[in-house]
Amino acid sequence: MTAPCQEACPTGNPIPQFLYLAGKGRYDEALQTLLKENPFPGVCGRVCFHPCETDCNRAQYDESVSIRSMERYVSDAASGQLPNSKPIRNTNSKKVAIVGAGPAGLSCAYFLSLLGHRATIYENQKEPGGVMRWGIPGYRLPKSVVRKEIQRILSLPVEIKTNVNVGEDISFGELTRFNAVFLSPGARLNAPLSIAGEDLKRVWKGGDFLERIHSKDKVSLGRETLVIGGGNTAMDVARSALRLGSKVTIAYRRTRNEMPAFQDEIIEAEEEGIRFEFLIQPVKVTLLKNRKLAVKFQRMKLRGLDQRGRPKAIPVKGDFLELEADHLITAAGEQVDLSWIPQDLIKDGLIEVNPSSNIFAGGDATDQPRTIVTAISSGKRAAISIDLHARGNSYSGVFSKIRLGNKGSVSMETYLSGRGGGKWTEPLEVVLYERLNTLFFEPKNRVGMRQLNHSRRLRDFSEVNLGFSSEEAALSASRCFTCGTCNYCYNCYFFCPEGAISIDPDRQSKTVDLEHCKGCGTCAKACPRNVVEMKEVG
Ligand SMILES: Cc1cc2nc3c(=O)[nH]c(=O)nc-3n(C[C@H](O)[C@H](O)[C@H](O)COP(=O)(O)OP(=O)(O)OC[C@H]3O[C@@H](n4cnc5c(N)ncnc54)[C@H](O)[C@@H]3O)c2cc1C
Ligand code: SF4
Ligand code: SF4
Repeated sequence: MTAPCQEACPTGNPIPQFLYLAGKGRYDEALQTLLKENPFPGVCGRVCFHPCETDCNRAQYDESVSIRSMERYVSDAASGQLPNSKPIRNTNSKKVAIVGAGPAGLSCAYFLSLLGHRATIYENQKEPGGVMRWGIPGYRLPKSVVRKEIQRILSLPVEIKTNVNVGEDISFGELTRFNAVFLSPGARLNAPLSIAGEDLKRVWKGGDFLERIHSKDKVSLGRETLVIGGGNTAMDVARSALRLGSKVTIAYRRTRNEMPAFQDEIIEAEEEGIRFEFLIQPVKVTLLKNRKLAVKFQRMKLRGLDQRGRPKAIPVKGDFLELEADHLITAAGEQVDLSWIPQDLIKDGLIEVNPSSNIFAGGDATDQPRTIVTAISSGKRAAISIDLHARGNSYSGVFSKIRLGNKGSVSMETYLSGRGGGKWTEPLEVVLYERLNTLFFEPKNRVGMRQLNHSRRLRDFSEVNLGFSSEEAALSASRCFTCGTCNYCYNCYFFCPEGAISIDPDRQSKTVDLEHCKGCGTCAKACPRNVVEMKEVG
């Protein structure tokens, strides 16, 4: 059966399996299990928004399993870092061009390579990684982790050409010499505020500010910094400015409830001493004689809903406020640079491709949630689509077979299992909490992750979350119910009144002797994790 955590993970991580192996201290195997579906467990184990934990069955019993932290633990603890999976022999190998080496492009290259195709990635920065490399600060995601995971991908037959800007150094047309193209340029343009004074020297763009910090350029801020925005970029900008010694205020035009940034980020920003001003929107920036900036804000209120269903912020007539700061950093959203993309591939400011063509797209430049794990998932889907395209198969039929539940994630392992014969088994059902036998479990508190103390945090960009110890990891892994996956607890074997069940954990096999089985269903009732199911046959 499919566990609900795996269904909710956009890249379909085999969560019960990797947690089972981690619980036995078999970290190398646990990492290899993760790498079947996701080339970035170290990154996701730190900065994924972990929808898996929201859907974890254990959340209905006491508290969800710390899946994200365990993903990080396994990725850090495993000694063998190279993927065990080797590219399959592919007599129909295709050449694929990928634009952009962010999580979407790199994942597409990884899976294409495992499927025996040859990917060439064009990246306009000097190092690959996209936002993971140039955006997310080191106190959340150390660069060494990003480099290690990219190195793993580049150990496969993947070619990468950095410092090549598609549209400038090579034209879009030149990509058509490849058999297929995957577009994943991300969304790197900072949305303008479109207000007077925005071009003043001390007004900076959030993305540029973060990039300069990553480039190790010397960045000096004045005593006070104002940050405009309520998303992840605004939080990263504000917390980075704090580490550079500035006092920081975030101004956001709605309230805390509507902030698009991840909750953890907002809480950590508050804990570190960042001030928030809600329901204000900048209208003008001026430079004062004392070289400070004066930012005039319009007060706002919430009324009705906008097109995306969020409360609409509208001005409170005649109500303004002024804040002074040494620097203003804007983080009001990111846009896609479409200047080099053919018009017929653009819709509503994003890339949209014709599903029957040999051009594919994914990540932030397309209409999908802007997160790393969805970018990875789009790269995986594109690699499968390109493989199917090369083999002349229809996509929809296959994707409906390799899906994990009903939330959009797909399994590469399942795809590979049916690829040779062109036949896939029906998708498995998702284990509902009601179908677990929780009598066999006992409450255990979730382990919290240790963090750097507040005063130490602000001294530099050291990682804030310190990870689990081996004892904490073992305890966390043991909290998993392994929903839908047998962990050889022997309940069915012991409870069967007919002795009809035999188990061989070494060979990972279970057999039911149908000659002796009376169909009483005791084994299914005694199975804690909904692996055994009674079905009428024949
Ligand atoms: C500051 C910030 C913090 C974030 N924090 C988180 C987080 O904590 N968790 C999370 O899940 N998500 C987070 N996100 C979102 C996440 O980073 C993105 O959703 C993800 O990186 C998108 O991946 P991508 O591959 O589509 O694009 P990107 O990561 O943007 O990569 C695209 C790559 O393409 C290159 N490129 C662009 N145009 C061209 C061209 N013409 N030629 C060649 N190369 C080109 C770019 O230089 C870049 O390297 C954050 C985003 C930002 C901006
Ligand atoms: S990638 Fe994200 S959603 Fe998937 S298992 Fe890891 S933390 Fe959970
Ligand atoms: S208990 Fe384990 S297998 Fe079940 S949903 Fe939670 S993490 Fe997944």
